[in-house]
Amino acid sequence: MQNPKLAGSNLIDAIPVGGICPNGCVPCFYNHGDLPTGLDSYLPTLEDVGDKIVRVNSGKDSTVDFNDVIKLTRKYPKKFYNTSLPTRICEFPAPVVFTAIPNNIQWFTALSEPFKLMAVRLRVCSWNIKTVDSAVRHYAGMNVPIILTFLYWSESEEWNSFFNDNQDYELKKHITGNRFMIKEKEWSRIVGRYTHYPQVFTCGSYNNHLCKDCGNCERLYKRAMSMYF
Ligand code: SF4
Repeated sequence: MQNPKLAGSNLIDAIPVGGICPNGCVPCFYNHGDLPTGLDSYLPTLEDVGDKIVRVNSGKDSTVDFNDVIKLTRKYPKKFYNTSLPTRICEFPAPVVFTAIPNNIQWFTALSEPFKLMAVRLRVCSWNIKTVDSAVRHYAGMNVPIILTFLYWSESEEWNSFFNDNQDYELKKHITGNRFMIKEKEWSRIVGRYTHYPQVFTCGSYNNHLCKDCGNCERLYKRAMSMYF
């Protein structure tokens, strides 16, 4: 499935090895509800790719099945990988987006150096701000770009009672169904905490999640290529 978020952008998805990501991050668009068996593998042809940048492994960590992932994506001239696992971070042959706040959103992985990071991704909600503050300080101190990704939860019984009592979230239409999403006022309050950090960006804006209008990944990919490759 091609992600509609990428439509019209200079990015194209590749999923070298399909299935459920074993990292089990909660919530995850790909691995909780919408796609019960995870993603199907998908490798665009070089003709499909053209001049686009291949985003490898949204929805399944690139370190899982590492050897196959690297082998199957070797043909793409422009690509970046996604992982939240630090174990093979030195071995990627292209820029990496490192999810530094993975499944347990109350702590972050503090890498000791920037490696070949294109950016770190911090998973944000209204109740993990202290963790986000610490992670921003750590990675901004190394001048690593930081992308804040606001979490949203599926409309399921598991979450209904929690969010009905939470004034910071509301049920809104998303790509494939309703989601509990952060309200605009709270989104702005959180983003406003980091305006003095030029390294901090958001994944899209409050009302617009489309990559073609955001451009962060393309810009940060070019930055990483010029710095590390
Ligand atoms: S940061 Fe921007 S370009 Fe990258 S995935 Fe998010 S919306 Fe798309």
